[in-house]
Amino acid sequence: MTTTYPRAERAARARLAAAELAADGIDGVVFGWVDNAGLTRVKSVPLAQLEHAAEYGVGAAPCFDVFLVDDSITSAPGGTGPVGDLRLVPDLDRLTRLAAQPGWAWAPADRYTQAGTPHPGCQRRFARRATDALARRGLTVRAGIEVEWVVARADGTPATTGPAYGMTRFVEHSDYLREVLRALTAQGLAVLQLHPEYAAGQFEVSVAPEGPVEAADTALLVRHTIRAVSARHGLRVSYAPVFTEGSVGNGGHLHLSLWRDGLGLAAGGPGRHGLHPEAEHFLAGLLAELPALLALGAPSVASYLRLVPSHWAGSYRCWGLENREAALRLITGSAAGQANAELKCFDATANPYLALGGVLAAGLAGLDAAHPLPPETTTDPADLDTAERLPSSLAEAVDAFEKSTLLREALGPELYEAVLAVRRAEAELFAMHTDAEVVEAVRWRY
Ligand code: GLU
Ligand code: MG
Repeated sequence: MTTTYPRAERAARARLAAAELAADGIDGVVFGWVDNAGLTRVKSVPLAQLEHAAEYGVGAAPCFDVFLVDDSITSAPGGTGPVGDLRLVPDLDRLTRLAAQPGWAWAPADRYTQAGTPHPGCQRRFARRATDALARRGLTVRAGIEVEWVVARADGTPATTGPAYGMTRFVEHSDYLREVLRALTAQGLAVLQLHPEYAAGQFEVSVAPEGPVEAADTALLVRHTIRAVSARHGLRVSYAPVFTEGSVGNGGHLHLSLWRDGLGLAAGGPGRHGLHPEAEHFLAGLLAELPALLALGAPSVASYLRLVPSHWAGSYRCWGLENREAALRLITGSAAGQANAELKCFDATANPYLALGGVLAAGLAGLDAAHPLPPETTTDPADLDTAERLPSSLAEAVDAFEKSTLLREALGPELYEAVLAVRRAEAELFAMHTDAEVVEAVRWRY
């Protein structure tokens, strides 16, 4: 089960942490949380306030639950508009000294009500709940989110001239990439790979798998760190699904493996490619819910400009071993413990806690119903008459989300309604925009 601490214990831990941070020359701590539009919002406190903040939280308006990507604010049924307040409580288990922002530390925040109870709209809590539901079944999930980004010059043009995956790009940005690597590593992140990607200016970093909530925290920390290192080099960063219209975009591929008693369930089993029955049911549950899950994992209007065939974005609702056009790509890995499934259709506009919580809930439902895993797709699905495309617009994904009793129940009414309101409002916001205008409007927002 995931750990949460009572108030007095939080205060005691913060007192110790503040003394250690002071000794390390830290002046303040940034508390980050991600809204339903997928943007990280923050508050910060000086060290002297850390203990009080950990004990009681710091104020944050509930209307952040209905913020949109352009900072306009919509409303949800049952919402309180400009009235009321919530408390942001830093998770000191994840307190991190920011290597590329000297003098600052960071902690992800959980959101509580003024009365000290968990806020039902807290996305991080939702991911914890889903993790705990699997734990009650004796199952553990290990997850990792790949981070792809486009690095641009101050004028906004892609900052590489070299070819895709090319050494030229590495030479062009040798010092920058070294600093990215050093900063991530200094923050305790286990980097697995760093490489140039396909699109102009694009790079990717992957990190080792961990628990779902931790993996979501890590994805955010990786992104903040890359942005901070970039700023120190006079560079700009975009995690938007599409940077250049028509080109391959930025994904946020989610890797998942399911474990029971320390045994990875994606290898050594009697099923296809060694899948254990529980892993098959889990993946079948994901596939069954995938159109609705896109409202959590590919939640922006721009997501659907990326999620098209022949862009390695996984725009077909199918699975296949090492199939880069399938939404669910099975990876055997070089050792049994590394076998995992990669959900390719998600991107970095997702609130990672919502995406992970939704995926775990869908997987668990697949297990409960003993969903059979459909036949494997072993070729490019674009070549098959029978292949099923995933939703091709946010509006379509929202339709599926509205019909999903599973996600409605898993999220709970308050969070579900807020997410739905934000999705509908963003679809409306960009309804009259051309694709080029959508790309332009959100390029620097994520
Ligand atoms: N950039 C591609 C995407 O939008 C993925 C490329 C790859 O890593 O396969 O998801
Ligand atoms: Mg990639």
